[in-house]
Amino acid sequence: MTLSTAARHDRLNHMTDLTILTLTEARDGLRAKAFSATELAKAHIAAVEDARLLNAYVLETPEIALKQAAASDAKLAKGEGGALEGLPLGIKDLYCTAGTRTTACSNILGNFVPTYESTVTGQLWRDGAVMLGKLNNDEFAMGSSNETSCFGNVINPWRREGSNMDVGSAGIEGTYLVPGGSSGGSSSAVAANLCLAATATDTGGSIRQPAAFTGTVGIKPTYGRCSRWGIVAFASSLDQAGPIGKSVRDCAVMLRSMSGHDPKDTTSVDIAVPDYEKAIGRSVRGMKIGIPKEYRIVGMPAEIEKLWQDGINWLKAAGAEIVNISLPHTKYALPAYYIVAPAEASSNLARYDGVRYGLREQGRDIADMYEKTRAAGFGREVKRRIMIGTYVLSAGYYDAYYLRAQKVRTLIKKDFEDIFAAGVHAILTPATPSAAFGIGEKGSADPVEMYLNDIFTVTVNMAGLPGIAVPAGRDRQGLPLALQLIGRPFDEETLFALSEVIEQAAGRFPIPSRWWA
Ligand code: GLN
Repeated sequence: MTLSTAARHDRLNHMTDLTILTLTEARDGLRAKAFSATELAKAHIAAVEDARLLNAYVLETPEIALKQAAASDAKLAKGEGGALEGLPLGIKDLYCTAGTRTTACSNILGNFVPTYESTVTGQLWRDGAVMLGKLNNDEFAMGSSNETSCFGNVINPWRREGSNMDVGSAGIEGTYLVPGGSSGGSSSAVAANLCLAATATDTGGSIRQPAAFTGTVGIKPTYGRCSRWGIVAFASSLDQAGPIGKSVRDCAVMLRSMSGHDPKDTTSVDIAVPDYEKAIGRSVRGMKIGIPKEYRIVGMPAEIEKLWQDGINWLKAAGAEIVNISLPHTKYALPAYYIVAPAEASSNLARYDGVRYGLREQGRDIADMYEKTRAAGFGREVKRRIMIGTYVLSAGYYDAYYLRAQKVRTLIKKDFEDIFAAGVHAILTPATPSAAFGIGEKGSADPVEMYLNDIFTVTVNMAGLPGIAVPAGRDRQGLPLALQLIGRPFDEETLFALSEVIEQAAGRFPIPSRWWA
């Protein structure tokens, strides 16, 4: 179907009304019969088609969406349906979806079509959600900018104030901004209204950093809260599923559906899942909020300092008590993470051998076939991680690197335990050291430059704690900036209550225009 530009804009204007809703607004609209699930799905399908420039989706599944929406409409007509009935979502391509191609954005998975559904997505469909398609991410979730995907980079729908972003203007490099990573497809799609919410995963910051770069909300729950079963593994002791949404409330509703005990994941924890939405609006009076001095890094931009101070002021005004704390092992977190994560990745990625999944390159013998397949299938960053991981696990280096990193990890965890034992309810920090940067701007000459982006987020994974990123201000170029709240194990409710205070004070951060459509 080809439409004239005017007709396309007419159609969009009509449809966008539904796509700009938050997930919970859309839920309430469906229940009030203000529109149907089919209309909601169609509006999103049109928005996705019109935003292909952003490269957020690596696979669109409109037929599935329309079928699920029709089923939802039948349920809603009878006053039935689950917590997410008829609500269109995007799914990070790290989640296995039965019968739908899943690649982790790596050539090595090629056209892999799982015969099984990840536990988390299974729970979303159980609750009535609608799948719009699979979202782009850094290859095997390794990255902070979505530039390592085999499907190419994703574009952030935000742009620097005053920059000329007309389609067809200057080249991609430096003009367009990264959406963060690894869940860059998720953050870009949510910010651009290409789904009501998205699934994401976080090993060292991949939910919180992309949320911070796009003015969206992202929560990494406590390790063990969501099942990892059926999600492509990166570093199993750090990986957690979680949502990216347009509001704190939306994330609360999503997380409830995504959480719960799963006997198929031995690290999944059997603790009842609260109704997180009930925590929204809960008083934070009397809560102790820790401000860690180690997060005040050298050279921190003044606008991040100000953002942090604004957060402190808002929480104080809501009745919380602010206390200065110290997490002395913070400075070792990033180096230790970049030993532990590649070590586990090198082991997890051994399974891609040309026999079991996706790509196979012919070779003289089996060893040659393995080598050729892995050489052709993995991208540069993934190869770098495999080499680092193999090195730190090898005889002679294991004690010097891997064991030492694990010891550091224990100390990082203990820093947090001591603070929480002293009565602190949550910790407030910036989410990232800067706003979104330009595509091609970081990491090409020195990968460490890119790794430094995770400085505020990796500690949380090392300690297995819940962390949320909430947009809270803008930098001098008009780009969104976020605060991070870190909580006690399994106390996501406190994070939602505190984040709501920030969201109420700072407002939400909808994109100013649909310049790509
Ligand atoms: N940016 C970090 C890394 O590259 C974290 C990625 C993630 O959380 N999946 O390892």
